[in-house]
Amino acid sequence: MNDLTLVYSDEFKKHVMDRAHPESPERLEHTIKAARELMGECEKTIEIIKPEIIEKEDLLSVHVPDHIEKIKSISMAGGGMITLDTTMNEHTYDIAKLAAGATKLAAKLVDENHSKTSFAVVRPPGHHAEANSAGGFCFFNNIAIAAEWLISKKGYRRVVILDIDHHFGNGTSHIFYHRSDVLYVSIHAHPMYSYPGTGYPTEIGIVEGMGYNVNIPLLPGTESIDWLHSLNFASNIIEQFQPQIILVSVGFDALIGDPVGILNLSNNAFFGTGYIINQLANKFCNGKICCTLEGGYKIEQLEEVSKKFFKGMLGYKPKIIEKLQETRISNHTNSMFSQVKRALRDYWKF
Ligand SMILES: [Zn+2]
Repeated sequence: MNDLTLVYSDEFKKHVMDRAHPESPERLEHTIKAARELMGECEKTIEIIKPEIIEKEDLLSVHVPDHIEKIKSISMAGGGMITLDTTMNEHTYDIAKLAAGATKLAAKLVDENHSKTSFAVVRPPGHHAEANSAGGFCFFNNIAIAAEWLISKKGYRRVVILDIDHHFGNGTSHIFYHRSDVLYVSIHAHPMYSYPGTGYPTEIGIVEGMGYNVNIPLLPGTESIDWLHSLNFASNIIEQFQPQIILVSVGFDALIGDPVGILNLSNNAFFGTGYIINQLANKFCNGKICCTLEGGYKIEQLEEVSKKFFKGMLGYKPKIIEKLQETRISNHTNSMFSQVKRALRDYWKF
């Protein structure tokens, strides 16, 4: 069994929005380069494999037929604009399907014990894609499709989706908003200051899903220690849920200086993030972690931050974890925790 398997293809570069767009094909090269370097630097078994195209049935498990047809027809016609910041070219439909297929394959590799952990290094990203609409650079919801496949085809009953992208994953949240078999937990920049403008702590789910949508918003300028404390806060809820697998929407756009971000995380915050997720997975689900790539646009840092995240998820312990125990959380982040506790106190122990 591999320690980490990455699912990647150069085909992902064919989808291009426009030359100046931050969600550029170049992003993936740095993350894959980091994985290749790590193969030569550590004793863990790391493999890179090619994705499979997604089945229509899998797309339909999450998206309405009209949405799939719309993406297909615009793409087939040569491309066009979906929203002001989300555009397509002639390859977008096929490549978005490949990104969904890669994420499903990443889940399958972990489910079938081919690999302890996996990471789909894909674009376009997926977590802003709703059942019936595209937006925020996303067309099909890669991680939601993978989660739904694990539940409907592989019999999983408790899947956690941890979303550590800088932005609230509105699509993923809403797709599972009424359900208790998927716990969606998102740490993100406060919706008052950031896209998509939703993701408040009071958005906790509906009907059977009440309590299974956990939003932890952070104020602009939040730094690494508060971020990691937030992840520990989230871990407490995830532990009570006792997941059978941890799916992670990984975005590196909370990194300080990201062109679309307002949070101030260091590369080491992502090292610590990977490590905390590794510890959580070891405790509850035999180390099973399946990640897919969402955002992250600070090109010159992507190689280093990706490598640090991989190292953390492989179980290497960074110094920042020890520092975390000695450093108090700030008052503003603590006040966010109070809001989350108030919204969810009937559902989880704090
Ligand atoms: Zn993002």
